Amino acid sequence: MAEKKGILPSMRLDGMTALVTGAGRGIGRGCAMALAEAGAEVICVSRTRSELDDLVSEIEGLGARARALTCDVSDPEAIEALFAGLDRLDVLVNNAGISTVHPVTEIPVENLDRMLSVNCRGMVLVAKGAARIMEAQGSGVMINLSSTYGKVGRATNSVYAATKHFVEGFTKSIAVELAPKGVRVCAIGPTAIETPMTQERLNDPVYGPDLLSRIPMGRFGRVEDVVGAVVFLASPAAALITGTTIMIDGGWTAQ
Ligand code: NAP
Repeated sequence: MAEKKGILPSMRLDGMTALVTGAGRGIGRGCAMALAEAGAEVICVSRTRSELDDLVSEIEGLGARARALTCDVSDPEAIEALFAGLDRLDVLVNNAGISTVHPVTEIPVENLDRMLSVNCRGMVLVAKGAARIMEAQGSGVMINLSSTYGKVGRATNSVYAATKHFVEGFTKSIAVELAPKGVRVCAIGPTAIETPMTQERLNDPVYGPDLLSRIPMGRFGRVEDVVGAVVFLASPAAALITGTTIMIDGGWTAQ
């Protein structure tokens, strides 16, 4: 390869191994595709094998490399088994997450438990598995999925917003802890992005316009709006960036 000239560090991820949780649909799927396009081999993780197989075929169709592993991030033993099979990991996108909306007086206990076990406990245990590998390597980057609701609250989104505020505190704390080991930890905070998770809500005649009114740029996000920040944070161009969240929210939280 020709010697690099100029000042701009590379945003390529050639030779790196990346793991994306929740890769079967939505934001995770887009992140897996983009990381592969940037040169990484991508390990695509979710519970639905058929969606992962489709994704791997699509990535291979681009001439890039990927493999599929099923794992439920609400299952601590499954996460242990996932990481026991890995000997190298350069990039983690800790993306698997779920969301339901309820007035606080009506939150079903099972929804509360489910959001905590996937969005909080799952995120921590996946980060724990990745941190062990990255610490041993002395390098690596984790990118956790926060949200506008990691910065602000909203009526009926209380539990989801609480889980995303958890992501913010967790990200900052392990960023400080792992920085001396050469491991960076960041988060991204998307606004409402059109995905299978949000499709119904964004089309709701009351909920949709209310959300839109909070976004100064006047539109919902698309998966394509999110993936560039993930590739940037994963790349050598972000070598001194850790413990922070890049907001991808059309200005929502700037108000
Ligand atoms: P999505 O369309 O519902 O896709 C979620 C993905 O996560 C699916 O592949 C799903 O596959 C997987 N998943 C769900 N539960 C899992 C589990 N227990 N174990 C492993 N994988 C699991 O969601 P999305 O909208 O792309 O959201 C992805 C992340 O971005 C979430 O953390 C979300 O909170 C965050 N976010 C989303 C938005 C938005 O507006 N869409 C905005 C800000 C932040 P299986 O069901 O097959 O497992």
